[in-house]
Amino acid sequence: MSRIEPKLFVVSGPSGAGKGTLVALARKRRPSLGLTVSATTRKPREGEVDGVSYFFLSPEEFKRRVDANEFVEWAHVHGNCYGTPVSEVRRNLQAGSSLILEIDVQGALQVKEKFPEAILIFIKPPSLAVLEQRLSGRGTETPASLAIRLENARGELALADRYDEVLVNDDLETACSGLLRIIDTYERN
Ligand code: ADP
Ligand code: 5GP
Repeated sequence: MSRIEPKLFVVSGPSGAGKGTLVALARKRRPSLGLTVSATTRKPREGEVDGVSYFFLSPEEFKRRVDANEFVEWAHVHGNCYGTPVSEVRRNLQAGSSLILEIDVQGALQVKEKFPEAILIFIKPPSLAVLEQRLSGRGTETPASLAIRLENARGELALADRYDEVLVNDDLETACSGLLRIIDTYERN
């Protein structure tokens, strides 16, 4: 019988590709999958809860934590700072299950440098047109932040070939099964 080993998975891809939706569905199907809560200087959106969606920090507090080496990785993304707290990775590792970091492409490449055993999964939208529909349909962006996210998407898509796995999020159920299959495969090897 093959042994199941907890692994570190990094899920990234352009804003609006459906990372959050996919990861939430995958965790519903596999509740033992851990997820780190990131810190950000972005303002909370309606419904977002501090300590659950993100740790919402002032730019000064974020910088203090960068200087104190409190992040595994951090990056400037779409005009704000985002980072994965070391404490969040520790908390999840203690639970003994695989964990997911849902972070941007710059952060993903930093994690791979530090932890070469991490598995990078790139979530790709079916097309740029669908990406734009999803981002505007989500209703969270101003025209300016929507434009920045779409502009950045082109550069992010160009980095997909540096990932271990690329998953197209067209039909949500199919993509979720694909994500869980990737996780199962790596956990058994
Ligand atoms: P990300 O976390 O990558 O920024 P989200 O998970 O917030 O993206 O998804 C962006 C929008 O697209 C949301 O409104 C979400 O409901 C929708 N969405 C996500 N996946 C799909 C899919 N497979 N088909 C249709 N809509 C989707
Ligand atoms: P949003 O503002 O839509 O919540 O997230 C914007 C982008 O920041 C997304 O691509 C998301 O994956 C990324 N992000 C979220 N948390 C982190 C993090 O801890 N580190 C990095 N590098 N990116 C993050």
